[in-house]
Amino acid sequence: MSRPLILMYHRVADAPIDPWQLAVSPAHFEEQLDVLRRSRRPLPLAEFVRKLAAGTLPSDAVALTFDDGYVDNLAAAAPRLAGADAPATVFLTTGCVDSPEPFWWDELARLILVEDGPRQFDVVINGAAMSCDLGAEPPAREDGGTPVAALQTRHAVLESIHQSLRRLDEDDRRAALNGLRSTFAGFDGGAITPRAMTGDEVRTLVKDGLISIGAHSVHHPELPYLEASACAREIGASKRACEALIDAPVTAFAYPFGAFDDATRGAARTAGFAFACATRRTTADGAGDAFSLRRLFIPDLDGDAFERRLRWASANG
Ligand SMILES: [Zn+2]
Repeated sequence: MSRPLILMYHRVADAPIDPWQLAVSPAHFEEQLDVLRRSRRPLPLAEFVRKLAAGTLPSDAVALTFDDGYVDNLAAAAPRLAGADAPATVFLTTGCVDSPEPFWWDELARLILVEDGPRQFDVVINGAAMSCDLGAEPPAREDGGTPVAALQTRHAVLESIHQSLRRLDEDDRRAALNGLRSTFAGFDGGAITPRAMTGDEVRTLVKDGLISIGAHSVHHPELPYLEASACAREIGASKRACEALIDAPVTAFAYPFGAFDDATRGAARTAGFAFACATRRTTADGAGDAFSLRRLFIPDLDGDAFERRLRWASANG
């Protein structure tokens, strides 16, 4: 017995430094698409949501989504989706489109895990210093010499800074990151890969109609922690930016970090979105509300493990 599922991806790439398991390798992504072709009915997300509301969604329906707007969505995901004739929706963090800066969490991960900088330092967050100690662990090496999975202390420090930064508004987060940049003197954040798609790349992505875009805020904060006006700005401005990019209405939203509360949900509705995706790792049916659609997180699994995960999600919805 299968259940309808909305799948949540971020990147299709071989990524040696991937602390949040955002990347699925191209080879595994192909295996996953083979599984979907055999056992599932991929639908565009908007059609999936319409049928869910109407009670006409087939039990084997699946919708694919990609969060953040990484450039590998165009380079590596799109051709494979086209080969499998599988529609997908890409949720854009619009402040990063056409920006020379990387996603802030990638810069943070790079600083804490990879840079050979100071081992003890403070991060100043809203005027309060957070003391960080990386201990004796060496930095990760992208050639696999020091695998990122071995770095427990650095991971713990990364997690605690990340938890704090994601709850800040853009000005405060930028101030904290700027402080970190000067702590790691000589660090060139602009040289970090991966990056977000440019506007031209977004238009190329959507031009044959198989892939659509949705909005994912401007700066990717944890929305429930923002003041109401800042939250509404993040949501509304990302909708307008998406619509300006493709010159068409954009009605899909995904909450950064999947974080929402009643006020956030209301703000997404007020901004004019038709539905919004969360990230709880389970099935979509029975979620009850078009503004808290559940999604199944998909890490870097081969075909067999992916099939087991779908079966598990179907059984445990
Ligand atoms: Zn995101």
